[in-house]
Amino acid sequence: MQGTMQDVPLLISRILVHGSTVHGRSTVTTWTDEGPVRRTYAETGARSAQLAHALRGLGVAEGDPVGTLMWNNGDHVEAYFAIPSMGAVLHTLNLRLPATQLAFIVNHAADRVIIASGTVLPLLAPLLPKLPSVEHVVVSGPGDRSVLAGAGSGVRVHEYEELIAGRPTAYEWPELDERAAAALCYTSGTTGDPKGVVYSHRSVYLHSMQVNMAQSMGLTDHDTSLVVVPQFHVNAWGLPHATFMTGVNLLMPDRFLQPAPLAEMIETERPTHAAAVPTIWQGLLTELTARPRDVSSLTQVTIGGAACPPALMEAFDALGMRVCHAWGMTETSPLGTVARPPAQARGAEEEWAYRVTQGRFPAGVEARLTGPDGERLPWDGKSAGELEVRGPWIAGAYYGGAGGEPQRPADKFSEDGWLRTGDVGLISPDGFLTLTDRAKDVVKSGGEWISSVALENELMAHPEVAEAAVIAVPDEKWGERPLATVVLKEGASAGLPELRAFLAGRIAKWQLPERWTVIESVPKTSVGKFDKKVLRARYAEGELDVTRLQ
Ligand code: ADP
Repeated sequence: MQGTMQDVPLLISRILVHGSTVHGRSTVTTWTDEGPVRRTYAETGARSAQLAHALRGLGVAEGDPVGTLMWNNGDHVEAYFAIPSMGAVLHTLNLRLPATQLAFIVNHAADRVIIASGTVLPLLAPLLPKLPSVEHVVVSGPGDRSVLAGAGSGVRVHEYEELIAGRPTAYEWPELDERAAAALCYTSGTTGDPKGVVYSHRSVYLHSMQVNMAQSMGLTDHDTSLVVVPQFHVNAWGLPHATFMTGVNLLMPDRFLQPAPLAEMIETERPTHAAAVPTIWQGLLTELTARPRDVSSLTQVTIGGAACPPALMEAFDALGMRVCHAWGMTETSPLGTVARPPAQARGAEEEWAYRVTQGRFPAGVEARLTGPDGERLPWDGKSAGELEVRGPWIAGAYYGGAGGEPQRPADKFSEDGWLRTGDVGLISPDGFLTLTDRAKDVVKSGGEWISSVALENELMAHPEVAEAAVIAVPDEKWGERPLATVVLKEGASAGLPELRAFLAGRIAKWQLPERWTVIESVPKTSVGKFDKKVLRARYAEGELDVTRLQ
């Protein structure tokens, strides 16, 4: 028997039309030099239609990728809707990548048009001669245009506002196949070369619904979300599309991502929710401790992208901001788990034990653990293995480039099509995931695994430690041993022996690092995660001043 329900394609244009009418009064606010600039969802819808007309005028056709090299702001939200709704493909470009990687990504996707924030033109201009597919650059917001003069002779430069001005404020959005490409996002390459994930309209739509569920972010039109996570980092975790379903007001920080302006934004615009990677919150915490502000509006903070140190969570709890830990990756759109304690958790201690996990799988994400010999491991909260997932918003392959076949490398996809995450962890019988490490970061010491993240979390619980990163280094006796690299807070007096003694009280003795070093800061990736590749290289080059403590 067939279902008798209507088969309405799940399209991003439908989210846009819904948001800009039903929630037409909700707002997208962009932080600028001259204070906040506000547009309603209705205006955003109209401007998205104008942008789609303008892009069509530049020859953008269905299936064409359009690059965006932009900060989080109102124009970028318009691109988020206009490009996929007209049938083209939103290709977000990470403006913190090294130039060679950025060029690789643009060339791999063969972007014909790039919409760029004016302030990132100094990055784009010298690259243009190396980007043969790019025909048009559309410049949005402030920034010196003159840097583009002479860069890439065949490229035409347009002003965003001039390009959309006077165009019709409605667009007959095409009735696309919901499985068609909507957005293209490359992994940030923390552990290798960037790989392109192509989200479909269907996957974005379903993922957006999940983001909105009460057990995920659960936001409504009563909320304002401060979206610190960049729009080029897994589509700002799906927030701009999800919020148009429910009318959440968006607060976009543009390039003002330093702790002081963020604190000011929170105090004056009073968001109720915020989303960012842990390093951003670490910086904000230091700022708020030095110069307290009224941050009482901000009651929910989603932290993900890297393990959130429990000490950071506690510090934010003390300020009245409840941190909700979440796990995901570019390949999972990204929402994979969210750590909201279950109803059965009794008392603060049990709740806490759930909150520090990576979180619970939603209905759309199936999970399994695979041991070193390919065996399935039980969800018993003890057996640790590689996490594999599948679901309607999980990648089944990587983009193969123009005309190329999708790529399914065996280290990334199982034979039966599950995504191999490269994350190692355990799952409790009630479906909560605890990650112990990335497969590539785990310390393999004499046949036992030491979780670098566990050591880091304990070290960062020391009141004088600002940051700590642990990497595996070769050891004659054990194969590998952990090296603790520590960043001390300003004015700290603790020496390495004291830190070692502190750690000794909190972990198993055999896991205690012998090698220690104090560094200025932990190197970060383009999306603000600890860059252990760089630390490993520095160690190999003998650049770290390592002290041995037994
Ligand atoms: P990249 O792999 O280049 O860093 P992603 O942003 O896709 O790019 O990163 C996904 C990875 O980030 C995950 O596979 C996981 O290792 C890590 N990660 C994300 N969220 C968390 C979290 N809450 N706890 C621990 N690790 C996390």
